[in-house]
Amino acid sequence: YAKSRALFAAAREVIPSGVNSTARATWSGWDPHPLFVEGGDGSHLRDVDGNDYIDYLLGLGPMILGHRPPKVTDAVVKAIREQGTVFALPAAAEIGLTRSMIAAVPSLEQVRLCNTGTEAVLYAVRLARAFTGRNKIIRFEGMYHGFSDGVYWSKHPGLNVAGSDRAPVAVPQGPGLPSGIDSSLIILPWNDTALLREVIERQGHEIAAVLTEPVMCNTGCILPEPGYLEAMREITRKHGVLLIFDEVITGFRLALGGAQAHYGVTPDLSTFAKGLGGGFPVAAMGGRKDIMALVADGTVSMAGTYAANVIAVTAAIAALQELSAPGMFERLYKVSDRLRLGLERVFDEARIATRVVGVGPVFQVWFSDHDIRNYRDAARHANHELFRLWWEGMLDRGVLFHPGAYENLFVSFAHSDDDVDRTLAAARETARAI
Ligand code: PMP
Repeated sequence: YAKSRALFAAAREVIPSGVNSTARATWSGWDPHPLFVEGGDGSHLRDVDGNDYIDYLLGLGPMILGHRPPKVTDAVVKAIREQGTVFALPAAAEIGLTRSMIAAVPSLEQVRLCNTGTEAVLYAVRLARAFTGRNKIIRFEGMYHGFSDGVYWSKHPGLNVAGSDRAPVAVPQGPGLPSGIDSSLIILPWNDTALLREVIERQGHEIAAVLTEPVMCNTGCILPEPGYLEAMREITRKHGVLLIFDEVITGFRLALGGAQAHYGVTPDLSTFAKGLGGGFPVAAMGGRKDIMALVADGTVSMAGTYAANVIAVTAAIAALQELSAPGMFERLYKVSDRLRLGLERVFDEARIATRVVGVGPVFQVWFSDHDIRNYRDAARHANHELFRLWWEGMLDRGVLFHPGAYENLFVSFAHSDDDVDRTLAAARETARAI
């Protein structure tokens, strides 16, 4: 890793912490970190020292078609050459893209495009407050909805939680964030239907929305317990509270229609990014027409110089076309399930207590002999030192995933059975060594 190390030293002179991506916080702590990338191809990544990896980081999720997906890349290059990049005027292609999204995702009646997941969430929250005329937002411990000050969550255990389990008053805090108690946010533990019901029954008239990832993918991977999403839907509907699914990770990944299609629960608004663009920066927010009408009539403003730019729209159209091909998700689940169940077996055989938790192409390995239901369980029961040894052992054997225990392994359509075999062989060796 000599070249990566030298580049990291040079980068730190000019880039605070040396890394622009959000992987900074975890990557900078361990050695050798971070890897400087030369390029990627399909399911593989090459670093500047010539090491080749099977890549389960996938750019934090967007590279669902693998690196340099030919059809997306070709379409974008052609569009840039023949059309341009930004006009701040609409193009017909936007209608086609939006129609495809509406056809694919159950809750979408109308859609607005933007650039990042952070923006999409910001828009959804703003719209929910305007539509309901209420101010408070319920969100959940351990979820990440982008780095806007309004819904920011810092990944330091306990930092965002004040009060006891039964006194759900919470304060997002940290250097640089607005100080004082933000009474507009209520932050609850996830997978606790009784508590959610209690809070909404008490304060529902003040609550604009419940904002949640349908699968918790920013505290490792934690699944909704059976009936939890359905209960959320029922309680919010009863009290006129909007339900927002943040599908930035799960959208176009758990299924073409996202987690809402996978679980059959329909939110009022939802947000998308990552998988939508096949690796190009594009995001979206959409949902019920009567709510989106507030954007149409200008009550709620949305802006963005780069919103619906040619690159974004072209990439998303090409990516959705690929994702919509028959049999794509069945194959993705087959490969992903082989890997997830294979890893379970590896740890069983090595007698290392783990929970390999996830759904289809997104999962995480918890080194724990406890079930992990929410952020508090993860903070209390997961063994981060073992995770680190596991991560380093796999990296040494040519398998790359995010070094954070609170992150995920992502599988792409480019991953093959051979990749899975090689990953499981590396896992067997690593499990023996740790
Ligand atoms: N919501 C969720 C669920 C996310 O996982 C992320 C990014 N990891 C975001 C929002 C923010 O998206 P972006 O990084 O594109 O701003």
